Amino acid sequence: MSVLSGAAKNSNKERKNKMALIQLKKDVNLTLSTEMALLTGYVARLWTGGGMGAFVITSARDGAHMEGSKHYSGNAVDIRTKAWLKPDGLHKEEVSVFVKSLRARAGAFGLDVHLHPEDDIRLKLRQRPAHLHLEYDPQEGEQLWEFVR
Ligand SMILES: [Zn+2]
Repeated sequence: MSVLSGAAKNSNKERKNKMALIQLKKDVNLTLSTEMALLTGYVARLWTGGGMGAFVITSARDGAHMEGSKHYSGNAVDIRTKAWLKPDGLHKEEVSVFVKSLRARAGAFGLDVHLHPEDDIRLKLRQRPAHLHLEYDPQEGEQLWEFVR
């Protein structure tokens, strides 16, 4: 057996022990726009690669959301963060750092990031349970792709 085939065998074994890139809460409707699908994969890779644990989508084009929500057009997903909550119901520092980094990296691609409850301005509108809301909502000058020759 060559060294190479041994390495290949090992990496196959490692792959088997890893979970999927994305985990879906049962009954999630993952019918997303192309833009949101691309961004979701991008964020999932950053989340898992950044040691944030499982990337669990708890809602996409399903569930009850605010009127006018991007969820209804397949342009938003909610990510579970309960593993990162402090006893006061707010997120640990790691999540704030992740969100800040994500905004810096992907804001220019049209990705909006809302952390609940921290980003809920009015207390009575605070969304429970705590979660990370990602949506594709490009503003002027933001773009996810461009055409090239
Ligand atoms: Zn949401």
